[in-house]
Amino acid sequence: MTETPTYEIPTYEVLALRYAAQADRPASANLLLPDDHASPMPIDYFVWAIRGGGRCIVVDTGFGPEAAARRGRALMRSPADALAAAGIDAATVADVVLTHLHYDHAGCLDAFPAATFHLQDKEMAYSTGRPMCHRALRVPVDLDDVLNAVRHVFADRVRFHDGTATLAPGITLHLVGGHSGGLQVVRVWTARGWVVLASDAAHYWANIRTRNPFPLVADVLAMAEGWRICEELADGPDHVIPGHDPLVLARFPAVPGLLDTVRVDLPPVDPER
Ligand SMILES: [Zn+2]
Ligand SMILES: [Zn+2]
Repeated sequence: MTETPTYEIPTYEVLALRYAAQADRPASANLLLPDDHASPMPIDYFVWAIRGGGRCIVVDTGFGPEAAARRGRALMRSPADALAAAGIDAATVADVVLTHLHYDHAGCLDAFPAATFHLQDKEMAYSTGRPMCHRALRVPVDLDDVLNAVRHVFADRVRFHDGTATLAPGITLHLVGGHSGGLQVVRVWTARGWVVLASDAAHYWANIRTRNPFPLVADVLAMAEGWRICEELADGPDHVIPGHDPLVLARFPAVPGLLDTVRVDLPPVDPER
C-alpha cells in the first residue's frame, strides 16, 4: 500500500489486450512447486496500453506468426491489430515499455517504427551475455528478437533504465528481475489507485497468491522478492495485473465493442473469482 499522490497527475485508462493463447497446456508448465500438475491450465498473451493526459504508452509488443507457429501458440490477431481496434496506431506510438526480452514480449518491435523502447540495463546484459549460454534460460528467447533489440540500440531507439524510472507523472518503471535478469514492472495511477502491470513477475494470480514460482525462472529468490515488490507498489491484490492469466479477461470490465480487451484501471467485475 502506498500513498496517494499529492500533486496533480492524470488518472490513466489501462487496457489489457489479448492477442494469443495456448489452451492445451498443463499446470506443470506454470507452477514450479508440486500441485496437480497434470490438470490443464491455459495461458493467454497480452499487450497493455496506458492512456491519459495526452499520452499513450504501450507495454510490450507481443509475438508474430512465425513464433506462434514454431511454438504452437494460437495467434488470434497481431498485437498491432489489437491496438488498432482500440484506436491506437502502433505506427505513431512514441513510447513502448519492454518489460523483458522474451519472445512473447519483444517479438514485434518493428510494428512500432516511431517508438522509443524502454528497457532495463540488466535485461540487455542478461539477454546478450553469459545467461544465454544455458539452454534452460534461452528457451523463451528468440535470437532474432535480441538482435533486433540491439539494432534498435544502434539506431538510438532504446532508452535504458537502471532501476526505478519515471516515464510520465503517475507512470513508473520498477526493476524486479527473477523471471529474467532485468524484468521490469509498470506502476500506473488510476481512478482506483495504483495498479501494477506485473508482466512476468506474476504470470498468474496463482503464482503470486500461493507463492508458487513460474518454472521458467532465472533467480527464484528475486522472483519471490518481486512478488513482494509488486504488492508494495500496488493498492491491493486485485491491483496487481498478472501477465498471462486468462482470469484477467474474466474479471475485468470489457471495453464495449472490442474483442478480448478489458479495462484494468477499473475495479474487477467479479471480485470473488
Ligand atoms: Zn517471460
Ligand atoms: Zn511472458
